[in-house]
Amino acid sequence: MKIRNHKLEGVEFQPARWTGGVITPEIVVLHDTAGRLEKGNSARYLRDNDAKVSVHFVLERDGTIVQQVPTNRQANHAGESSYNGRKGCNGFSIGIEIVNPGKMTRIAGTGGLWARAWWKEDFQDGHGVELVEMTTREHGSGVWMDYTPEQITAGTLLLETLFRDIRTLKDITTHWYVSPGRKVDTNPLFPLEQIRAKVLGRDDPAQAAAEAGSAPSPTATMLRVVTAGSNLNLRRWPSFNPNVIGSVPNGTRVPAIRSGIFDGRAWTLVQFDGREGWIVDSYTQIA
Ligand SMILES: [Zn+2]
Repeated sequence: MKIRNHKLEGVEFQPARWTGGVITPEIVVLHDTAGRLEKGNSARYLRDNDAKVSVHFVLERDGTIVQQVPTNRQANHAGESSYNGRKGCNGFSIGIEIVNPGKMTRIAGTGGLWARAWWKEDFQDGHGVELVEMTTREHGSGVWMDYTPEQITAGTLLLETLFRDIRTLKDITTHWYVSPGRKVDTNPLFPLEQIRAKVLGRDDPAQAAAEAGSAPSPTATMLRVVTAGSNLNLRRWPSFNPNVIGSVPNGTRVPAIRSGIFDGRAWTLVQFDGREGWIVDSYTQIA
């Protein structure tokens, strides 16, 4: 997967009616469609409605992704919202709507857990869908439908692609986080922290730990990348977890910013191609 000209290559682009002005995306906001599961149903609504709503990507139950707004244009998915004190998330976010019924109500039924969606369709746990009844502080009480393995796989790949190709992106969050008390999507079964860890490397030393474990490099130190022919990975954090944000060609000279020992290995924070990232010292020389 690759973003080219603000579109995801290889997926269908269906232009949304409500496509706004140019934005610089800094976060991704994840949503549930809170609609029917049938393929194309929510995508059709989000593409063309009178409620002025739209979104960049729709993720179907079978893992199919559809794009409806270019990644550098505003979509109307978050409404009244704020992210760490900054209001109006539509102005700096990419939205992904995941097909899921949202909060459902438990109903009486034989043979296990049954729940009713807001549009009065009934679902039974274990019959094509997995249901769980649970309560959280952020979501309240309800019956929730699990996301499909295809949605998790495709969604993770989409996020990895967005974070690799759109350098201004910094975080993955949810509608309930940016609109607390007003919205409950994504539902409590969504593996948000696992996906954040995988895409952002958040099980790595965090920003504060990386800074505490390192010291500024001597002024004007330059390193030359020396690898056995291939490129050297530029990483968000000083670790070998999946956190690659770029690739430094063999022979490149890069300015060193900070250096430190992490997990017994020397790492340096360098600047390359307009961004900062960590490289392993063992593949560098002072230059
Ligand atoms: Zn939402």
